[in-house]
Amino acid sequence: MTDTNTNYVNGEWVSSATSETIDVANPANPSEVVARYQQSGSEDADEAARAAADAASDWADTPGPERGRILRQAGTILADRKDELTEQLVAEEGKARPEAAGEVQRAIDIFHYFAGKAADLGGTVKGSSSRDTTLYTRKEPVGVAALITPWNYPIAIPAWKLAPALAAGNTVVLKPASAAPGPAVALAEALDEAGLPDGVLNVVTGPGSDVASTFVEHEAVDAVSFTGSSQVGEMVYDQATDQGKRVQTELGGKNPTLVSESADPEEAAEIVATGGFGTTGQSCTACSRAVVHEDVYDEFVDALVAEAESIDIGPGLEAEMGPQVSQSELDSTLEYIDIAQDEGATLAAGGGTPDEYDSGYFVEPTVFTDVSNDMRIAQEEVFGPVVAVIKVSDFDEGLEVANDVEYGLSASVVTDDHTEANRFVDEAEAGVVKVNEKTTGLELHVPFGGFKRSSSETWREQGDEGLEFYTIEKTVYDN
Ligand code: NAD
Repeated sequence: MTDTNTNYVNGEWVSSATSETIDVANPANPSEVVARYQQSGSEDADEAARAAADAASDWADTPGPERGRILRQAGTILADRKDELTEQLVAEEGKARPEAAGEVQRAIDIFHYFAGKAADLGGTVKGSSSRDTTLYTRKEPVGVAALITPWNYPIAIPAWKLAPALAAGNTVVLKPASAAPGPAVALAEALDEAGLPDGVLNVVTGPGSDVASTFVEHEAVDAVSFTGSSQVGEMVYDQATDQGKRVQTELGGKNPTLVSESADPEEAAEIVATGGFGTTGQSCTACSRAVVHEDVYDEFVDALVAEAESIDIGPGLEAEMGPQVSQSELDSTLEYIDIAQDEGATLAAGGGTPDEYDSGYFVEPTVFTDVSNDMRIAQEEVFGPVVAVIKVSDFDEGLEVANDVEYGLSASVVTDDHTEANRFVDEAEAGVVKVNEKTTGLELHVPFGGFKRSSSETWREQGDEGLEFYTIEKTVYDN
């Protein structure tokens, strides 16, 4: 069990000023405490923000290739620890082992990707109307970036904020979610070992309402990048913009897959099941609404139920689907399952907790049919393995239903008709649109973000676009 000074401030591993700790339990077996972290407060957050501010100018002056060298070295250290980090992720967050290993690999790849970007980060030479003037732009860091992250991708999301922030020359304060803080702490260990100068990264574990909100309000913090629920993120957005800070929020989703009459119902069911039940439905891009043409509806439902019933649930190591992360997340999913039935939806598969694992936070992959789009199960983010199936009579109605939701993160269509595919790409109100693919799964070199309540829309994460949030452009006239 991890039981150390888990706050990393100004290059030192320290305990919190509160002297309190948080125990993290194994979601597959909650009586097993797997790690203990500092339960920090605003005093710790303040110290971390000051350390980041003190380190900002030297790090900004460090040449890009040197920043890149440290990031690359950190990536290599993470790669050497891949198995250990995978076990940590399984133990703290409950992901099935193949999913956890994939997530750790993604974090490694992100560090290597942004290591290259750090060396390359420059401006552009422009033509000038004066022959004596060299006119060019240069990219400078924003300053101190506060990164606030959720538990559902506890290593990939901190990595996809941290690597571009550091690559661009910012210093960082990072507050991971309390359900699974370990992987973010491990990123700090790798960067420390790779030679990151003191104060450039500071990690403080503890409650969001205390530690993270201190970062958001702190005078030393210039930019806030938040990923989490829309409810908290919208509050953070208002707080940060009121303070004149640059802010990026990546929030919830209620992602549809539209199944056309031209689709193969079995193939469509496999796409929906993978998108809906992968990572136990605990993905912001999880498919939670299948909008299905009436001509293929019955066959699709039979195939989706068969997919749901064939999923092997169990404790993370080799099962296909692990538990939910916590009692409160499990309770919330079970409550939505009750609400859906009260609203008149038909429970077609799952709906309960499996007998053989009744001590962990397991829930069965669940399918609801006879769902109308105004039901809460069709509109609200469940964040568990629950798919609502909605019947439509043509493609136009399908598009309308797919878009008729306050979120807009990811959307996919399953169709054999290219015109329908093109219309979907044109008209889907989502930041990520996929054709004949599941709603989940992202490549790291392309931008990611949502429309509507899923994102603040101004900034994107990942790829070159992900770096823009962490840089300010300066235009130079050199005569
Ligand atoms: P959450 O909003 O509860 O917490 C996210 C982070 O915010 C945590 O670190 C938490 O401690 C912190 N926080 C809590 N209260 C705060 C406050 N008052 N001020 C500042 N920070 C505060 O979300 P969660 O349960 O950890 O994660 C699940 C949610 O994240 C889902 O809604 C999911 O869709 C979303 N998510 C979005 C994306 C995306 O990229 N769009 C990716 C993953 C998860």
